[in-house]
Amino acid sequence: MIYLDYQATTPLAPEVAKAMQPWIEEKFANPHSPSRWGHEAEAAIEVARKQVERAIGLKGGSVAFTGSATEAINWALKGSVEKAPRGRNRIVTVATEHAAVLDTCEWLAARGIDLTILPVQPDGRIDLDLLARELDERVLLVAVMQVNNEIGVTQPISEIADMSHKAGALMLCDAVQAFGRLDLCNGPDLVAVSAHKIHGPKGVGALWMRKGKEPAALLHGGGQEQGLRSGTLAPMLCVGFGAAAKLADEHRTRDYDHVQRLWKAAIAALGPGWVINGSTTHRYHGNLNIRREGLDGARLIADLRDVAFSLGSACASGSGRPSHVLRALGLDYRLTRSSIRLGFGRYTTQHELSDACARIAAHAVAQEKLDA
Ligand code: PLP
Repeated sequence: MIYLDYQATTPLAPEVAKAMQPWIEEKFANPHSPSRWGHEAEAAIEVARKQVERAIGLKGGSVAFTGSATEAINWALKGSVEKAPRGRNRIVTVATEHAAVLDTCEWLAARGIDLTILPVQPDGRIDLDLLARELDERVLLVAVMQVNNEIGVTQPISEIADMSHKAGALMLCDAVQAFGRLDLCNGPDLVAVSAHKIHGPKGVGALWMRKGKEPAALLHGGGQEQGLRSGTLAPMLCVGFGAAAKLADEHRTRDYDHVQRLWKAAIAALGPGWVINGSTTHRYHGNLNIRREGLDGARLIADLRDVAFSLGSACASGSGRPSHVLRALGLDYRLTRSSIRLGFGRYTTQHELSDACARIAAHAVAQEKLDA
């Protein structure tokens, strides 16, 4: 199996598995209990917290662990609305955001929040003039992701945060696909990240919160995580997240250079006839979303059972719905069906990627001949 679905999830790093092992097999204490074992688990979680904070690299805030980035995003949005100053009732976001943002915003809109979803330009980038026109004293929060999960396009987060702050609004950045891969942009007040996208375990994420901008609690109960997010933390998951963050920090340059080389190898092996979806300059190069005239992407995936790649996001692929991100770029239904996403990273070898891309190209050409 050649795994080319790094945006959906990433393989667990061996170093992470090793760090988690004692917390799976031997150490079972509740990190919030006052016993010596409890304190040991608590201390391990605090080390992990520092590791995640260091890898996030932003100043003036701290991290609370959550069960996923989806939870972190729900919490950031709903908890900020809960604490909104009088008169600030609007959320501004973008049509290409992940469902965790869009669906939560729609949920809030159904309960009275005034929601603006900005379109994107054909290259997937937000139009800052358009954003400027939307920002006024009624805006509570602006939510924009740093790297898009379907097309890899990056947004100018620091500029967006500056503009939001000038209007007195908060800025939430979904940094799930940027974290551990690119430097996170300065500026946002709230930043959501997830362990399983950086070779950590599934089932743990985090919300970085600027001091003083913490959202109201979403989960109530035992008061863990400074009273902001109740629920017993899982030391094994937090330790795994910390180890993955530390590794991502140490490997940052090496991983980045590796991905740049892989991108070039993939483009070369695919050959002519493909169009890259989204900006070719403002992007993360471990995400290659491409289309080809007349291609049936779903058939290609079915034909190449030993290569794992996808049609768009894992959610969009599962639902059979055309990707809302590709639609936002202006692609019609036919072109969204002719698009595939290849995602690669730390453990992808140049040889396997070139091999997979050559086979993808050969099958695409065969489809054309069959359909001709
Ligand atoms: N945001 C983006 C951009 C993602 O790619 C994902 C995962 O696919 C999420 C949010 C949700 O992350 P999690 O799986 O931790 O809930």
